[in-house]
Amino acid sequence: MVNSIGRRQYICFLLDGAPYGARPAFSMKTHTSEFDVAIVGLGPVGAVAANLAGAAGLRTIVVERGDQPYVMPRAIVFDAEIMRIFSSIGLAKEVAAATRALEGSIYLGADGKPIRAFRARPRSHELQWHPSNLFYQPELERILRNGLLRFPNVTVLREKEVVGVQKGDGSSELAVAAARTTPGPGSDARQIVRSKFVLACDGASSTVRKLLRIALEDIGFEERWLVLDALVNGALQWPTVYAVPEEVRSGRYSLMVCDPARPATLIPGVGRHRRWEYMVMEYEKDDDVLGETWLSQRLAQWVEPSDVEIVRSAVYRFRALIADRWREQNIFLLGDAAHQTPPFYGQGMCHGIRDAAQLMWRLCLVKDGAASVAALDSYQIERAPHVREIIAASVMAGAEVCKLDPAAARARDIEFRRVELERADRPGWPFPTLSRQFGTASLIPAQVACYCRKCCACLPRECCSDWMRFSRADSRSCPLNQ
Ligand SMILES: Cc1cc2nc3c(=O)[nH]c(=O)nc-3n(C[C@H](O)[C@H](O)[C@H](O)COP(=O)(O)OP(=O)(O)OC[C@H]3O[C@@H](n4cnc5c(N)ncnc54)[C@H](O)[C@@H]3O)c2cc1C
Repeated sequence: MVNSIGRRQYICFLLDGAPYGARPAFSMKTHTSEFDVAIVGLGPVGAVAANLAGAAGLRTIVVERGDQPYVMPRAIVFDAEIMRIFSSIGLAKEVAAATRALEGSIYLGADGKPIRAFRARPRSHELQWHPSNLFYQPELERILRNGLLRFPNVTVLREKEVVGVQKGDGSSELAVAAARTTPGPGSDARQIVRSKFVLACDGASSTVRKLLRIALEDIGFEERWLVLDALVNGALQWPTVYAVPEEVRSGRYSLMVCDPARPATLIPGVGRHRRWEYMVMEYEKDDDVLGETWLSQRLAQWVEPSDVEIVRSAVYRFRALIADRWREQNIFLLGDAAHQTPPFYGQGMCHGIRDAAQLMWRLCLVKDGAASVAALDSYQIERAPHVREIIAASVMAGAEVCKLDPAAARARDIEFRRVELERADRPGWPFPTLSRQFGTASLIPAQVACYCRKCCACLPRECCSDWMRFSRADSRSCPLNQ
């Protein structure tokens, strides 16, 4: 539905199937404020974007529907590149204190014995960040939100939601209302936020993406998984039907149980936090598996009931989706608003944080007149191939893990063991405790190329502080290469 204020046309969102006009969209007490950057959503991606914008000295406003970080279990691991981004916003020390290294992941086959191992490469220097870091998402979000208190140039509006958007050449406008969860007087007051750039970090059901009518491409994966976070006292016990290697028992590796009867995952969190994930079968309803009896029966395999406290559980539909367009004039999609990745490589949030880092320096250059607005097109050109590559890898990994046909699962196991044997034949196999059969597949996701900003020559990542990154496939689209 379309409303108008003065000369501007606003696209208003339909919430709960009701035209937004049912609550007058812009007619009540409306006032306007102006910013360099307006960020919609204060999840991890919006919070990193806001810290980057704050550190860059941009006049920034964040609009967030909720008042607290999201409480359901979600991301649990991020990679070294994300830690470098936390470092760039001055929060690495605090984040590192809330994380611990994940050294690898072991897959068990249909026979309960190892079929595949991923290992994080050992750090070559103590100043290097760990390739894979375990964390607790609400704690990370708390650190990122607190980080914003350092910046007087960043304003955060909590319990407010964006309900309309108006694109413009030099600036765009957002219509902001009290979040629907906040009833009572004043909830119909409207605020117009005008900003040079708008960053839609409003998650998988992005309001802004829908308002702009940007379609999602479905890459073709959909499985329901139950995700359960628990606090555990003492050691876990190990089901005798599984040959669980020492790396998992000692809490250094995660475990993927590729049992066609019920694929499952166990991830060792920080401190007493442990994560279990179970594939939900087609014949099961969400409520069936969220019941206390079902959950307790599963956990009883791994831990004494008196030693475990279930913190939260949820059923998710893991999907692989990517938005057609990530930019519409000066409005950008980031994070889950732009793409959704099945979590088999723990990369969904990492993608979004990379989006924020790669967009922000472009915005700064354009704002300062050091680059033309054409440089903003390279945001999607750079990021999308990397995201696609990792989504494809996650979908492939997920398809192998989620095999429910016993014969297909056995064939997978034979193939995985063959590949591991091949890897083990290579020299320099450095891992002492797992059977030598298992090789050195890396947990680090595919990396993009680094280009020097001055000469655009391809660089090893660490050799130049003035680098920019493009996916190899699209290196010729580097705007500085034109
Ligand atoms: C089970 C599971 C495990 C995962 N594991 C990992 C992992 O290990 N590693 C990893 O990197 N990723 C992982 N992910 C993915 C990761 O959790 C998400 O990619 C990440 O949380 C997305 O962050 P975001 O900031 O883009 O969106 P969100 O976290 O969804 O934040 C969006 C924010 O926008 C706000 N909002 C929405 N609409 C509006 C509006 N109209 N106005 C104002 N505010 C609005 C919401 O309130 C919310 O705070 C996992 C996901 C799941 C489900």
